[in-house]
Amino acid sequence: MSKKIEKIVMMDSDEAASIKTVTGWVDRQGRFWGNDEHQARWCGATHRKCKNKPEEHPIHATNGYCEECHRESRQSKFATFERAVWTGEPLVIFDDDQYFFDVESLADYCLEHSLLPSELQLLICEPNYPPEFDIEQHCEEVIPDGGDYHSLPQAVLDAAEALNKAIKESSAVSWSGSGRVAIVSDDILDDEQKAEIMAERAA
Ligand SMILES: [Zn+2]
Repeated sequence: MSKKIEKIVMMDSDEAASIKTVTGWVDRQGRFWGNDEHQARWCGATHRKCKNKPEEHPIHATNGYCEECHRESRQSKFATFERAVWTGEPLVIFDDDQYFFDVESLADYCLEHSLLPSELQLLICEPNYPPEFDIEQHCEEVIPDGGDYHSLPQAVLDAAEALNKAIKESSAVSWSGSGRVAIVSDDILDDEQKAEIMAERAA
């Protein structure tokens, strides 16, 4: 049986190491990326051009996104929403958290921003009610195997039923924007208010 003899390379020999010139991409911070030009550029840059419309849109941070593209895509989404004549429901401005619960606050907002109601992107809000309480799910872990709803004490079931009755009869707890655009007439403003908005814009 012969044992393979490992070659000995001395630390101070030319074979152990030699100086070579290597070429590769280095980012602004000095990190070496070899052939990966893209990664080196990505790491070394702070900003880049929009990938969709490089000539039209402003530059944006490399770790961010093009706000203009985002705005355009949200606007095309808005354009797909159905439109309905407003009948007094709470309203919210599209992609904003500005809500209006009465016509006066909407009129005030218009005056403050010198905008007509028809120029706001208003969504009709839908009511949010408390969710129904599922007693069986709530007690799932303590109901014995093979048991069900009826394993629970009658008094608890009655109380859950009373709670669900109250929930069903509840009024809206909050409101959220829907996929319906409100058609709001500029005539919610009187002539004086409209004139004030126009004068403010002309100024
Ligand atoms: Zn863009």
